[in-house]
Amino acid sequence: MSNVVVAKFGGSSLADSKQFIKVKEIIASNNRRNYIIPSAPGKRHSKDHKITDLLYMCQQLASHGLNFDEIYNLVQKRFEDICVELNLNLDISSLLKEIRKKIQEGASKDYAASRGEYLNAIILSNYLDMKFIDAAGLIVFDEKGFLDSKATDKNVKTKLREISHGIIPGFYGSMPNGEIKVFSRGGSDITGAIIAQAINAEIYENWTDVSGFLMADPKIVKNPKPIEKITYKELRELSYMGAPVLHEEAIFPVRKAGIPINIKNTNNPEDTGTLIINDLEPVTHLGTITGIAGKKDFTVISIEKTLMGAEKGFFRKLMSVLETNNVAIEHMPSSIDSISLIIANFELNSKLDRIIEEIRIYCNPDSIICYPNMALIAVVGRGMINTKGISAKIFTALANKGVNIRMISQGSSELNIIVGIENVDFEKAITAIYEAF
Ligand code: ASP
Repeated sequence: MSNVVVAKFGGSSLADSKQFIKVKEIIASNNRRNYIIPSAPGKRHSKDHKITDLLYMCQQLASHGLNFDEIYNLVQKRFEDICVELNLNLDISSLLKEIRKKIQEGASKDYAASRGEYLNAIILSNYLDMKFIDAAGLIVFDEKGFLDSKATDKNVKTKLREISHGIIPGFYGSMPNGEIKVFSRGGSDITGAIIAQAINAEIYENWTDVSGFLMADPKIVKNPKPIEKITYKELRELSYMGAPVLHEEAIFPVRKAGIPINIKNTNNPEDTGTLIINDLEPVTHLGTITGIAGKKDFTVISIEKTLMGAEKGFFRKLMSVLETNNVAIEHMPSSIDSISLIIANFELNSKLDRIIEEIRIYCNPDSIICYPNMALIAVVGRGMINTKGISAKIFTALANKGVNIRMISQGSSELNIIVGIENVDFEKAITAIYEAF
C-alpha cells in the first residue's frame, strides 16, 4: 500500500469561491493528498441549482432546437465568479464559449453534463497549482457503456506513475470512439474510488457537507450520535435502508482493495467524520449497535398452505409469479406452513391484484392475506455478533412503547436485525430503539 491519499470533494464543497478557499486549506494541511477529484459546483443554499442540473437542461433545450442562453448564462456566471473572486489568471470564458458552441451544435447529454466537473477541475488545478489530468484519458467505458475496469486500471496506473500530483475531474470518462460518458448521478464518488484502488491509496477521503454518518436519521431522533467507524458490510445494510451519503457503487473498488474511506466535512474539517473500514477488522465493542435505518411503505403478502415445504416446486412457482410480473422482493420470512413476501409498494403499484390471482392459480394456497402500510427497520452492528440480549433489548424497547412487531428477520451473518412494523409506528419505533442503546 502506498501512503498516498486520494481526496474527492463533492459539489457543495466546491460550490463557490469561499468553498474553494476551504478546500485549499484542507489540501495544504496534509502533503500526502496527492490526487484530488472534484465534483461540479453544487448548491450554495437550498434554493440554488447544481451546475450539473443546469447543464443537462441546456442540452435538453438545445436538442429541441430551443434557446438555452438564459440557463447557460447562469453556468457561465458561476464559473466566472469563482475565477474572479479567487483572482485566477485563467481564461475560463473562452472554455465556456467553446462548450456553449458544442452544445448548440448537438453535443451529447453526457458531454454537456460532464463539463461541470471538467471546468471545476481546471479551475482547481489553476488555483492549487497542480496538474490537470483529464478523466477522459483515464476512465474508459466499453461500447455498451459499462465501465471497463481492466483498461481503466491500466490507464490510471500508467498515467499516475508519471504524474505524482494532480486534479482529476470526477463523474466521467470516455467510450472507445472517444465520446464522453458519465456515471450515474453522484458518480464522482466512483471516480475517486477507482483512482484510490488503482494506485493502492492508503485512504480514500470523501469530503462532503456532513461529518459522516449518524446513528439514526436526525429528522426522527434528536442529535443522534455520529458513527465513527463502520465496516463496509454494515454500511451496505444501512444504506440500502436509509439515505446514502456515498454513491453505493463507490464502495466496491476500495472495499475489494481493503482501502478505508473517510467521510469528512469540508465545513468542519477537524471533525473525525466516519471511517469505513475492512469487514474483517476485529470487533472491539461487543453488545453495541452501529446504526439504525428504515423505510416505510411495504406490503406483506402472507401465504398459507399446509405442507408447503414438502411440496416440490411450490417456491419456484411462487417466485415465477413475481418474476414474470417484474417485481423484486425485499424479504421472505417463512414458517412451517406459511411464507410472507415483503415487497416495496413502489414495486407493486397496480400489480397487486394480478399477483394475488396468479399465486392462487399457480400455487393453490389455503389462504392469502395482504397487509399494506408496513415499515421495515434495520438495526445494524458488528457488535451484535455472538452477543446475547441485543434482540431482547430491541423488542423490550418496542413493547414498552406499544409498538406491535409484524415481522422479525435476522441475517445469518448476525449483522442485522430487521423488524417489520406498521407505518404509523415508524418514528416512535426508531426513537425507542435508539434510546435503548
Ligand atoms: N455532478 C454530478 C452530479 O451532480 C456528479 C457528482 O457530483 O458526483 O450528479
